[in-house]
Amino acid sequence: MRILLSNDDGVYAPGLKALYEELSKIAEVIVVAPDRDRSAAGKSLTLNAPLRPRILDNGFCLVEGTPTDCVHLALTQWLKDLPDLVIAGINAGANLGDDVLYSGTVAAATEGHFFGLPAIATSLAMHKGDKNYESAARIIRELVEQTMARPLDKETMLNVNIPDLPYEEIKGYQVTHLGQRHRAEGMIEMQDPRGNTVFWIGPPGPEQKAGPGTDFYAINEGYVSITPLQMDLTKYNAISQMADWVGHVKLKAV
Ligand code: MN
Repeated sequence: MRILLSNDDGVYAPGLKALYEELSKIAEVIVVAPDRDRSAAGKSLTLNAPLRPRILDNGFCLVEGTPTDCVHLALTQWLKDLPDLVIAGINAGANLGDDVLYSGTVAAATEGHFFGLPAIATSLAMHKGDKNYESAARIIRELVEQTMARPLDKETMLNVNIPDLPYEEIKGYQVTHLGQRHRAEGMIEMQDPRGNTVFWIGPPGPEQKAGPGTDFYAINEGYVSITPLQMDLTKYNAISQMADWVGHVKLKAV
Protein backbone atom coordinates (compact mmCIF):
# COMPACT_ATOMS: atom_id res chain seq x y z
CA MET A 1 0.00 0.00 0.00
CA ARG A 2 1.17 3.53 -0.80
CA ILE A 3 0.03 6.39 1.41
CA LEU A 4 0.37 10.12 0.80
CA LEU A 5 0.78 11.81 4.17
CA SER A 6 0.40 15.54 4.77
CA ASN A 7 -0.64 17.86 7.59
CA ASP A 8 -1.28 21.49 8.47
CA ASP A 9 1.11 21.86 11.42
CA GLY A 10 4.11 21.83 9.09
CA VAL A 11 6.75 19.37 8.01
CA TYR A 12 8.60 19.48 11.36
CA ALA A 13 5.54 18.72 13.51
CA PRO A 14 5.83 15.83 15.99
CA GLY A 15 2.42 14.40 15.00
CA LEU A 16 3.56 14.02 11.39
CA LYS A 17 6.77 12.27 12.42
CA ALA A 18 4.98 9.88 14.80
CA LEU A 19 2.44 8.92 12.16
CA TYR A 20 5.10 8.52 9.46
CA GLU A 21 7.08 6.13 11.65
CA GLU A 22 4.05 4.04 12.55
CA LEU A 23 2.58 3.83 9.03
CA SER A 24 6.00 3.00 7.57
CA LYS A 25 5.72 -0.35 9.37
CA ILE A 26 2.92 -1.40 7.01
CA ALA A 27 3.10 0.83 3.90
CA GLU A 28 5.19 3.00 1.66
CA VAL A 29 4.62 6.52 2.98
CA ILE A 30 5.29 9.67 0.96
CA VAL A 31 5.29 12.92 2.96
CA VAL A 32 4.47 16.27 1.37
CA ALA A 33 3.79 18.96 3.96
CA PRO A 34 3.83 22.75 4.44
CA ASP A 35 7.09 24.46 5.44
CA ARG A 36 5.42 26.00 8.52
CA ASP A 37 2.33 25.84 10.70
CA ARG A 38 -0.65 26.45 8.43
CA SER A 39 -3.33 25.46 10.92
CA ALA A 40 -6.79 26.85 10.10
CA ALA A 41 -5.74 27.43 6.48
CA GLY A 42 -9.03 25.81 5.44
CA LYS A 43 -9.28 24.77 1.81
CA SER A 44 -7.08 27.59 0.49
CA LEU A 45 -4.92 27.23 -2.61
CA THR A 46 -1.98 29.49 -3.47
CA LEU A 47 -2.79 31.11 -6.80
CA ASN A 48 -0.50 34.15 -6.79
CA ALA A 49 2.89 32.48 -6.34
CA PRO A 50 4.65 29.34 -7.58
CA LEU A 51 5.03 26.29 -5.33
CA ARG A 52 8.61 25.30 -4.60
CA PRO A 53 9.02 21.72 -3.33
CA ARG A 54 12.22 20.84 -1.46
CA ILE A 55 13.35 17.45 -0.18
CA LEU A 56 14.69 17.31 3.38
CA ASP A 57 17.41 14.90 4.54
CA ASN A 58 14.75 12.57 6.00
CA GLY A 59 13.03 12.32 2.59
CA PHE A 60 10.05 14.49 3.53
CA CYS A 61 9.00 16.98 0.86
CA LEU A 62 8.46 20.53 2.07
CA VAL A 63 6.31 23.03 0.16
CA GLU A 64 5.96 26.75 0.82
CA GLY A 65 2.21 26.54 0.59
CA THR A 66 -1.02 25.44 2.21
CA PRO A 67 -2.03 21.86 3.10
CA THR A 68 -4.28 21.79 0.03
CA ASP A 69 -1.36 23.00 -2.12
CA CYS A 70 0.77 20.13 -0.82
CA VAL A 71 -1.72 17.38 -1.64
CA HIS A 72 -2.66 19.02 -4.93
CA LEU A 73 0.99 19.21 -6.00
CA ALA A 74 1.67 15.63 -4.93
CA LEU A 75 -1.34 14.19 -6.73
CA THR A 76 -1.04 16.20 -9.93
CA GLN A 77 2.75 16.39 -10.37
CA TRP A 78 4.90 14.83 -7.71
CA LEU A 79 3.69 11.23 -7.68
CA LYS A 80 3.85 9.19 -10.87
CA ASP A 81 1.04 6.91 -9.70
CA LEU A 82 -1.77 7.95 -7.39
CA PRO A 83 -1.48 6.57 -3.84
CA ASP A 84 -4.01 4.15 -2.36
CA LEU A 85 -4.86 6.44 0.53
CA VAL A 86 -4.38 10.08 1.58
CA ILE A 87 -3.90 10.77 5.29
CA ALA A 88 -3.50 14.12 7.07
CA GLY A 89 -2.13 14.60 10.57
CA ILE A 90 -1.73 13.83 13.29
CA ASN A 91 -2.99 17.32 14.03
CA ALA A 92 -1.95 18.96 17.29
CA GLY A 93 -5.46 19.50 18.62
CA ALA A 94 -8.98 18.26 18.01
CA ASN A 95 -10.95 18.98 14.83
CA LEU A 96 -14.51 18.59 16.05
CA GLY A 97 -17.83 19.99 14.87
CA ASP A 98 -17.48 23.35 13.11
CA ASP A 99 -13.67 23.03 13.22
CA VAL A 100 -13.74 20.90 10.08
CA LEU A 101 -14.48 23.94 7.90
CA TYR A 102 -11.46 25.87 9.22
CA SER A 103 -9.13 22.91 9.50
CA GLY A 104 -6.15 22.57 7.18
CA THR A 105 -5.90 18.93 8.28
CA VAL A 106 -9.39 18.14 7.01
CA ALA A 107 -8.67 20.24 3.89
CA ALA A 108 -5.59 18.17 3.05
CA ALA A 109 -7.66 14.98 3.28
CA THR A 110 -10.43 16.61 1.26
CA GLU A 111 -8.02 17.27 -1.58
CA GLY A 112 -7.34 13.53 -1.77
CA HIS A 113 -11.10 12.94 -1.72
CA PHE A 114 -11.52 15.37 -4.65
CA PHE A 115 -9.06 13.21 -6.60
CA GLY A 116 -11.24 10.16 -5.99
CA LEU A 117 -9.08 8.62 -3.26
CA PRO A 118 -10.10 7.37 0.16
CA ALA A 119 -8.90 9.96 2.67
CA ILE A 120 -8.57 10.24 6.44
CA ALA A 121 -8.00 13.37 8.53
CA THR A 122 -6.50 12.57 11.93
CA SER A 123 -6.29 14.76 15.02
CA LEU A 124 -5.15 14.35 18.61
CA ALA A 125 -7.61 15.93 21.05
CA MET A 126 -4.85 17.25 23.29
CA HIS A 127 -5.02 18.36 26.87
CA LYS A 128 -2.39 20.57 28.38
CA GLY A 129 0.75 18.59 29.04
CA ASP A 130 -0.31 15.27 27.52
CA LYS A 131 0.82 14.37 24.02
CA ASN A 132 0.13 10.72 23.30
CA TYR A 133 1.14 10.86 19.64
CA GLU A 134 2.50 7.28 19.66
CA SER A 135 -0.78 5.98 21.01
CA ALA A 136 -2.75 7.94 18.38
CA ALA A 137 -0.40 6.78 15.60
CA ARG A 138 -0.98 3.17 16.63
CA ILE A 139 -4.75 3.67 16.49
CA ILE A 140 -4.45 5.14 12.99
CA ARG A 141 -2.17 2.33 11.85
CA GLU A 142 -4.79 -0.18 13.02
CA LEU A 143 -7.50 1.72 11.12
CA VAL A 144 -5.33 1.67 7.99
CA GLU A 145 -4.81 -2.08 8.46
CA GLN A 146 -8.60 -2.36 8.60
CA THR A 147 -8.83 -0.48 5.29
CA MET A 148 -6.49 -3.11 3.84
CA ALA A 149 -8.72 -5.94 5.08
CA ARG A 150 -11.95 -4.14 4.20
CA PRO A 151 -11.18 -1.37 1.68
CA LEU A 152 -12.93 1.95 2.07
CA ASP A 153 -15.25 3.10 -0.65
CA LYS A 154 -13.49 5.65 -2.86
CA GLU A 155 -16.16 8.15 -1.89
CA THR A 156 -15.36 7.77 1.80
CA MET A 157 -13.59 10.48 3.73
CA LEU A 158 -13.18 10.11 7.46
CA ASN A 159 -12.52 12.66 10.17
CA VAL A 160 -10.83 10.79 13.01
CA ASN A 161 -10.22 12.36 16.41
CA ILE A 162 -8.30 10.46 19.04
CA PRO A 163 -8.42 11.17 22.77
CA ASP A 164 -5.07 12.13 24.26
CA LEU A 165 -4.68 8.98 26.34
CA PRO A 166 -2.26 6.09 26.57
CA TYR A 167 -3.31 3.27 24.23
CA GLU A 168 -4.54 1.04 27.07
CA GLU A 169 -6.91 3.75 28.33
CA ILE A 170 -8.71 4.35 25.03
CA LYS A 171 -12.15 2.78 25.38
CA GLY A 172 -12.87 1.98 21.73
CA TYR A 173 -14.40 3.52 18.64
CA GLN A 174 -17.60 5.47 18.05
CA VAL A 175 -18.91 6.40 14.62
CA THR A 176 -20.26 9.91 15.12
CA HIS A 177 -21.79 12.96 13.51
CA LEU A 178 -20.36 16.45 13.84
CA GLY A 179 -21.35 18.38 16.93
CA GLN A 180 -21.40 22.14 17.08
CA ARG A 181 -19.62 24.87 18.98
CA HIS A 182 -20.98 28.08 20.45
CA ARG A 183 -19.96 31.28 18.70
CA ALA A 184 -16.25 31.95 18.97
CA GLU A 185 -15.20 34.13 21.86
CA GLY A 186 -14.09 37.69 21.21
CA MET A 187 -10.70 38.58 19.82
CA ILE A 188 -7.90 39.62 22.11
CA GLU A 189 -6.96 43.27 21.76
CA MET A 190 -3.33 44.27 22.30
CA GLN A 191 -0.84 47.01 21.50
CA ASP A 192 2.04 46.22 19.20
CA PRO A 193 5.53 47.64 20.03
CA ARG A 194 4.78 50.67 17.85
CA GLY A 195 1.63 51.50 19.77
CA ASN A 196 -0.82 50.25 17.15
CA THR A 197 -3.88 48.29 18.23
CA VAL A 198 -3.78 44.68 17.02
CA PHE A 199 -6.16 41.76 17.49
CA TRP A 200 -5.40 38.09 18.05
CA ILE A 201 -8.07 35.58 17.10
CA GLY A 202 -9.01 33.81 20.32
CA PRO A 203 -9.87 30.19 21.06
CA PRO A 204 -12.86 28.50 19.42
CA GLY A 205 -16.19 28.63 21.23
CA PRO A 206 -17.07 25.96 23.79
CA GLU A 207 -19.12 22.96 22.73
CA GLN A 208 -22.86 23.49 22.24
CA LYS A 209 -24.30 20.42 20.50
CA ALA A 210 -22.18 17.77 22.13
CA GLY A 211 -24.62 15.07 23.19
CA PRO A 212 -24.46 11.31 22.56
CA GLY A 213 -23.75 10.52 18.93
CA THR A 214 -21.55 13.58 18.39
CA ASP A 215 -17.80 13.67 17.92
CA PHE A 216 -17.44 15.86 21.04
CA TYR A 217 -19.22 13.27 23.16
CA ALA A 218 -17.08 10.36 21.94
CA ILE A 219 -13.86 12.25 22.70
CA ASN A 220 -15.07 13.39 26.12
CA GLU A 221 -15.92 9.77 26.97
CA GLY A 222 -12.48 8.50 25.94
CA TYR A 223 -13.44 6.97 22.58
CA VAL A 224 -11.91 7.46 19.16
CA SER A 225 -14.40 9.48 17.09
CA ILE A 226 -14.83 8.51 13.44
CA THR A 227 -17.06 10.86 11.44
CA PRO A 228 -17.74 10.07 7.77
CA LEU A 229 -17.74 13.39 5.89
CA GLN A 230 -19.20 14.52 2.59
CA MET A 231 -18.35 17.69 0.73
CA ASP A 232 -21.78 18.40 -0.75
CA LEU A 233 -23.00 21.24 1.48
CA THR A 234 -26.34 21.56 -0.30
CA LYS A 235 -29.29 21.78 2.09
CA TYR A 236 -31.51 19.45 0.07
CA ASN A 237 -34.61 19.79 2.21
CA ALA A 238 -34.63 23.56 1.54
CA ILE A 239 -34.62 23.29 -2.26
CA SER A 240 -38.39 23.12 -2.80
CA GLN A 241 -39.05 25.87 -0.24
CA MET A 242 -36.44 28.08 -1.93
CA ALA A 243 -37.93 27.36 -5.36
CA ASP A 244 -41.26 28.63 -4.03
CA TRP A 245 -39.58 31.68 -2.46
CA VAL A 246 -37.72 32.67 -5.59
CA GLY A 247 -40.89 32.02 -7.65
CA HIS A 248 -42.36 35.17 -6.09
CA VAL A 249 -39.43 37.31 -7.22
CA LYS A 250 -40.27 39.05 -10.46
CA LEU A 251 -37.56 39.79 -13.00
CA LYS A 252 -37.69 43.49 -13.68
CA ALA A 253 -38.74 44.47 -17.20
CA VAL A 254 -35.76 45.90 -19.03
MN1 MN B 1 -2.95 22.13 12.94
